[in-house]
Amino acid sequence: MPISLEQSTLSHINVYLIEGEKGYLLVDSGWNTDKSFATLHNYLVKIGAGFEDISQIVVTHVHPDHYGMAGRIKKLSGATIAMHHIEKGFIEPRYISMEELLHQTDRLLIASGVPRDFADKLRDATLGLENYIVPTLPDITLRDGETITTGKFTFRVMWTPGHSSGHICLYEPEAKILLSGDHILPKITPNISVNPQSIENPLGRYLKSLQEIRQLEVKLTLPGHDRPFTRLAPRIDEITQHHAQRNMEILEAIGQQTKTPYQIAQKITWGDNNGWGDLPAFHQRMAIFETLAHLEMMAAENHIDKLPRDGIIYYGQR
Ligand SMILES: [Zn+2]
Ligand SMILES: [Zn+2]
Repeated sequence: MPISLEQSTLSHINVYLIEGEKGYLLVDSGWNTDKSFATLHNYLVKIGAGFEDISQIVVTHVHPDHYGMAGRIKKLSGATIAMHHIEKGFIEPRYISMEELLHQTDRLLIASGVPRDFADKLRDATLGLENYIVPTLPDITLRDGETITTGKFTFRVMWTPGHSSGHICLYEPEAKILLSGDHILPKITPNISVNPQSIENPLGRYLKSLQEIRQLEVKLTLPGHDRPFTRLAPRIDEITQHHAQRNMEILEAIGQQTKTPYQIAQKITWGDNNGWGDLPAFHQRMAIFETLAHLEMMAAENHIDKLPRDGIIYYGQR
């Protein structure tokens, strides 16, 4: 059920409703706006159902578009909310008491070489998003390898860290269906960044979890955005290739002189035709933290040097 995301660069979030014996399983929820709510309600009415028929909600990760409305639906349906235990830990700092996360983001921006006056703007770029969320803790926390059954389907929880540290995909081995959340999208490469809530070397972990998914036999992939697709392995290879190219571009941008992530991010290409200066603040922050994810991966693999100096981290060619 595609739900449009107005005020976002992504056009839709896909939420999935899967029939069970004692109610439906809802995968992801859309963010909490009256329009999203009405859209979801209309889909339910079309199949002769209502919110009270939803018995389980599984959240792939707690980004606003995937998780925002889950609490509102729970209130109406009494459905249980399930998510990976790492994502549960993000709800309070991201959406309830945000002070500490803002401080951590600020420190990371400064360490990345962002000038003091500009760091304020980038730090605060996502403030307001919490208005699209009904912060609700899960009833069930999930771990890798656990199963979720609804009707004739039994989904295996696949922990796929990278885009978010506790991101999960759901895999149905009999039907060979993968619900991929934001881990694998058919057209865009998901944002993989170092941020205060990321695990160590998030891009390295992401690429590893892509390869784990590549081992599965999958006939149909149901992504969090864009259309369902069939060619999963070639898409995984494309994404992997994209990150390898990005590494090359970043190495070139570093050149002979050590540079900060902020300096490097301004030298590389973003989007189809946007130069750095045309990006909105939120995207500039994502760009810096994505660059940082590449730098951290290359440093972890000993391809480049990481050189802290006066509270700022520089990276240099070996
Ligand atoms: Zn996401
Ligand atoms: Zn998303």
